[in-house]
Amino acid sequence: MDSLAAKSFLTEEELQFRETVQRFMKQEVEPLVPQMEKDGLIPMSLFRRMGEMDLLGTFLPEEYGGSGAALMTRAIVHEETARVNAGLDASIFVTIGLVAKHLAKYGTSAQKEKYLRPAISGESCASICLTEPSGGSDALSPRTTAKKDGDHWVINGSKTFITNAPLADFFLVFTRTSGENRRARGGTCFIVDKGTPGLSVGPAFDKLCFHSSATAEVFFEDVRVHESQILGAAEEGFYIMLDGLDVERVFEGGSNTGIAQACLDIAAPYAADRKVFGKPIADYQMIQDKIARIAAGIEISRTMYYHLVRAVERGEKVSSEAAMLKLYSSDMAVMASREAVQILGGNGLMEEYQVARLYRDAKHHEIGAGTSEVMKLIIHKETMKAYGAR
Ligand SMILES: Cc1cc2nc3c(=O)[nH]c(=O)nc-3n(C[C@H](O)[C@H](O)[C@H](O)COP(=O)(O)OP(=O)(O)OC[C@H]3O[C@@H](n4cnc5c(N)ncnc54)[C@H](O)[C@@H]3O)c2cc1C
Repeated sequence: MDSLAAKSFLTEEELQFRETVQRFMKQEVEPLVPQMEKDGLIPMSLFRRMGEMDLLGTFLPEEYGGSGAALMTRAIVHEETARVNAGLDASIFVTIGLVAKHLAKYGTSAQKEKYLRPAISGESCASICLTEPSGGSDALSPRTTAKKDGDHWVINGSKTFITNAPLADFFLVFTRTSGENRRARGGTCFIVDKGTPGLSVGPAFDKLCFHSSATAEVFFEDVRVHESQILGAAEEGFYIMLDGLDVERVFEGGSNTGIAQACLDIAAPYAADRKVFGKPIADYQMIQDKIARIAAGIEISRTMYYHLVRAVERGEKVSSEAAMLKLYSSDMAVMASREAVQILGGNGLMEEYQVARLYRDAKHHEIGAGTSEVMKLIIHKETMKAYGAR
């Protein structure tokens, strides 16, 4: 079934690009997924292949190897990557959708040459370090600090749940350099190279979701970095982080749409084929209810996703709507994966049928990039503001 949302929001060229990406994912990525999930790691050769295919820097500047196209191209790659493997989607999103995007906007030309170019070509992989063991929701209260020492800064602290940390070539690290907790001013963002003395990465976490995407702690013990490694301006690093949050949440809508689409891709043909009590289970109303709710959830999420990507392209502020999409679509993807497992019965619990993986991966999106509770806080605040309440 073709998506009306895709036909309504995408240009002819973008629709063709979507087909190319779908073909690439099916032919070149899908066969790698079982091994990536087992190894707990994405092979760098896959990043390089995606770089070669111009699938990483679609929206990034041509000057550094990107294609300079609309953000929608990244949205398409994002959704289609999540459809084939949510862990791969998370790893690429961190390197490209967050780190490379911040470098393109806030980096100096030397930083772009050194870090952005290899990220776009798939030669390097990056992490973004915000969350700390003391908590992730209160993102403006990090305990990791940086103190100025001549033309260097000295970083101390630790970060946790850091996507890509075991294979990252460099890290964007958010620190408190002055001011009080919960204040946006007084934060500084540093680019720290792998191998910098005092920087260490813990072992990859054994986790419920995203088996292919390695996640670990990162420790900073008197890590000295030159001031040229500051991204943007000193004391203004949290604004970079805040600038990225809305788009991150819009893209979470793409992850959830992709995961739910993968559930339907497996569950619908299975229901048509599987005969129980002499009839395909798709003939039973309780199964029809599940398929109808999954299909509706996908199209509603995709419509809002593309709509918000276009709004971001136009430079519009979408904080409340991005939170609505993340809240709705993550709940929808968890429902879709739970119901897909149910449709497949015992087979649904077997790794071979893939929906067990989707069930684990969907849960992440109710937590990562801001929890569902935090999304509700944002929506509530913005809604009350519209009614004149403080
Ligand atoms: C696989 C994975 C990958 C990740 N990758 C990265 C990464 O690359 N970089 C990075 O910086 N972080 C990363 N994270 C961290 C992620 O963003 C945080 O886990 C998330 O923001 C939640 O923070 P927390 O886990 O500390 O939960 P907490 O902040 O401790 O929250 C715990 C619970 O309390 C609830 N809660 C908190 N405040 C309120 C409130 N005011 N009202 C009601 N309920 C509240 C939360 O909703 C949640 O249910 C990753 C996490 C995972 C699991």
